[in-house]
Amino acid sequence: MPADDAQLYIQQQMDLDGRLTLDLGSFTTTRMHRLANELIVENLGKNLVNQPEFPRMSQMQQELVNMLATLFNAPKADKYRGAPTVGSSEAIMLGLLSHRRNWEEKRKKKGLDTSSPNVVFCADAHICWHKFANYFNVEMREIGINGPTDFPIDEMLANVDENTIAVGAVLGTTYTGAVDPVWELNDRLEELNAKTGYDVGIHVDAASAGFILPFTDPDLKWDFRLPLVRTINVSGHKFGMVYPDMGWLIFRDDSQLHESLVYRVSYLGAEEETFTLNFSRGSWALYAQYFNILFLGKEGYKEVMEECLYNANRFAAYLNESEDFEVLSDLKLPIVAFKFKGKPKFTERHFAHRMKEHNWMLPVYDLPKNMEGQKIMRVVFRPDITEQMTDFLWDKMKSELQILKETKEKQLNKPSGFEGYGH
Ligand SMILES: *Cc1c(COP(=O)(O)O)cnc(C)c1O
Repeated sequence: MPADDAQLYIQQQMDLDGRLTLDLGSFTTTRMHRLANELIVENLGKNLVNQPEFPRMSQMQQELVNMLATLFNAPKADKYRGAPTVGSSEAIMLGLLSHRRNWEEKRKKKGLDTSSPNVVFCADAHICWHKFANYFNVEMREIGINGPTDFPIDEMLANVDENTIAVGAVLGTTYTGAVDPVWELNDRLEELNAKTGYDVGIHVDAASAGFILPFTDPDLKWDFRLPLVRTINVSGHKFGMVYPDMGWLIFRDDSQLHESLVYRVSYLGAEEETFTLNFSRGSWALYAQYFNILFLGKEGYKEVMEECLYNANRFAAYLNESEDFEVLSDLKLPIVAFKFKGKPKFTERHFAHRMKEHNWMLPVYDLPKNMEGQKIMRVVFRPDITEQMTDFLWDKMKSELQILKETKEKQLNKPSGFEGYGH
């Protein structure tokens, strides 16, 4: 097939998928600066794993790790430890793997059994926590929730025992964008460790908040300022504002990265270390991340994140003022989850389907364990959802809702395609 035809053949299919920027539930970056785009395209062929050959690339990676470790208030060190990953999922798996190795080493030294590790987390955690437990054969102790932003510390701690490799906390949850109270978990877990002689630490999944809270609420102690927080992941491709392919795992200090995970490669006299799950991958995301940090700086990130919060609050105010919706998010982060107030004759899926008719993709999903069946909707106020977009969205929501209200119940479920959209 001629190249032009091949390109068209693929692009036409992409066009049918809808508009990236109208996917309201997605956390990942849809647009970058024109010069970042140039930088990315010019360096697409460079493999991140070829560090010894490209020492500047490797140096930039270390500089970014240092910046993030400092941003997350890691104890002062000459060299910080961390890894660029494909996203938060890889970072979470890698982080928990290191917790597991550290737990094993301590147990083995005492001659204790290491055959049944477990990991404890709240059901508000992302699906990749399940993946870790499944792929790495660790028992999953997932504690159900009793409300959309519930974080049941008592029950979580009741599930911690000598075989617990780590406890999880999430900032912001994928469901409502809630910020789990890590500070409370830290204090309660310190007490439990002291009482029992365990040495269980915390992995903080800061996939979205890691690039928000340090700028919008720098005094909130959720990071390495808490002694039991040993590893943190963040998605560079969410509020780090890089296109999908960028995550980070940051270790509190050297002792948290288990040596058994580190591979050293030497080439041309230089020695580099690698501890990621995959081998070859692009390095463009690294340059894109570096570009954003240089270009925006702390002040710039703060400005962007405050804008996102402003738009989220603007939208939440519209919902609250209406008779029809109820906001479920605490709005510490620019994520708004909501549901219908009362019991309308139409469902969330009918509504999402109406919105899709106008190209808006509004996700409808269930709350997790113990609250299944409770349907909610979510809008993530990414930097590209501007004030104008927020108002366009709300206008469309109002008019589509009105149409649904005026639709006869019998008509709602006709196979005219009303059965709805959602994921
Ligand atoms: C997005 C997200 C993940 C998964 O991260 P990827 O970057 O998509 O791999 C994990 N946890 C939370 C809280 C998330 O928001």
